[in-house]
Amino acid sequence: MVAAVQVPETRIVVLGSGMAGGVAAKTFREEGYDGPLVLIGHEPTPPFGRPPLSKTYLRGEEPLSGWFVNAEDWYADNRVDRVAGTATGIDVNSRQVYVAGGSPVPYGTLLITTGGDNRRLEVPGADLAGVFQLRTVAECDAIRQAARAGAHALVVGMGFIGSEVAASLTQMGVRVTAVLPGGAPLESVLGPEMGEVMAGIHRDRGVELVTGDEVVRLEGANRVENAITKKGRTLSCDFAVVAVGIRPAVRIFEGTGLAIDNGLLVDGMCRTNVPGIFAAGDVANHLHPLFGRIRVEHYNNAEKQGAAAARSMLGSDAPYSYVHTFWSDEYEHKLEYAGHVRKWDRFVARGSVRDRKLLGFYLADGVLRAAVGLNRGGDPELDERDEMAAARRMIARSARPDARALADEDKDLDLL
Ligand SMILES: Cc1cc2nc3c(=O)[nH]c(=O)nc-3n(C[C@H](O)[C@H](O)[C@H](O)COP(=O)(O)OP(=O)(O)OC[C@H]3O[C@@H](n4cnc5c(N)ncnc54)[C@H](O)[C@@H]3O)c2cc1C
Repeated sequence: MVAAVQVPETRIVVLGSGMAGGVAAKTFREEGYDGPLVLIGHEPTPPFGRPPLSKTYLRGEEPLSGWFVNAEDWYADNRVDRVAGTATGIDVNSRQVYVAGGSPVPYGTLLITTGGDNRRLEVPGADLAGVFQLRTVAECDAIRQAARAGAHALVVGMGFIGSEVAASLTQMGVRVTAVLPGGAPLESVLGPEMGEVMAGIHRDRGVELVTGDEVVRLEGANRVENAITKKGRTLSCDFAVVAVGIRPAVRIFEGTGLAIDNGLLVDGMCRTNVPGIFAAGDVANHLHPLFGRIRVEHYNNAEKQGAAAARSMLGSDAPYSYVHTFWSDEYEHKLEYAGHVRKWDRFVARGSVRDRKLLGFYLADGVLRAAVGLNRGGDPELDERDEMAAARRMIARSARPDARALADEDKDLDLL
């Protein structure tokens, strides 16, 4: 609990009703804020977590309701005014949010949690029927409908979403060809060693990986039938899923005075440069005490930062210092990641690459910056004794472990 709620007079508006926005709404009420609370969003569902859209929900194994941040009736019960609509802009002087087709929504303090928009594939034919992207439930439902057993899918991009979709489609009996610019799936985030492990996992399940290549054109009479690649390959398909990353959803804030650079710039308290406006989640490029400027596109961050921003807005002065974690499920394999690093000079593996059961450590100038776990069990958020949790503690204290000890299964990470 925040010690003292200092701004009960204000009218709080949350713009963006995804994970971060939903968690923030919940936190405001849990922390004792009793004043007017408005949640603006253009998705028909109440705030929910997107992870099942590339996994269980896509495969028809789980309803979405288990991923709702709050039960559907929680909002009315807690006097959260949900405004269904698309915000078209804000006026930071008169403190209003403009909503298409509706009255402006005045705010005292504003939390922006608009997330990200999928990057489009800027090639001829990208608008053909049968070319999908994935962020919303509607997009997921469309892919699900196209994914009949025996169909042939093209997945463009093998980052986390592309990899998970490729895995789910394969599990649904769809034949998958994936085109990726690098040498292996997830290579840019996890490095070539883990990339190779992930490539093996997909290939073993029959996914055709077209590496070091890109789609330059999509063709088809009425709907997509072929992709042409830069290297001149023609890849046939019944449908395509484009998963080439997201852009922070900041377009409506351009020219408002809000500082924008790869997302909305916020400080360690989730404050933007404009008084009374905060941001959290995928849209927020935040200042982290350990990692510096960082924008994170993962569920755990949206959840923790949504709550942290709400607490900041209520007067807490605790900076947001969460040591980031995320996970990915592909087939029966579970990947977990803690920390953050873009450039490292040493990767150390503990465990078995062959058995696909390992922990990988990313060191930069001798400092442990991040760790990845593949099928090592446990949840670092829930289990203190878990080795990923231990790795996370090491990352938090900028440990400089001995590489040989890191690789040694018999060495207790907490003692390094
Ligand atoms: C298919 C999929 C699977 C994923 N799986 C994982 C996973 O396994 N593990 C993991 O760590 N992360 C995963 N993620 C990432 C995770 O879901 C995101 O990091 C998280 O959703 C970010 O939450 P957010 O609230 O910042 O943004 P969002 O959830 O995108 O919410 C933003 C909301 O703002 C709304 N909005 C935007 N602009 C406007 C506007 N102008 N007017 C009104 N409303 C607006 C949007 O409609 C949306 O509802 C996955 C993402 C996807 C798409």
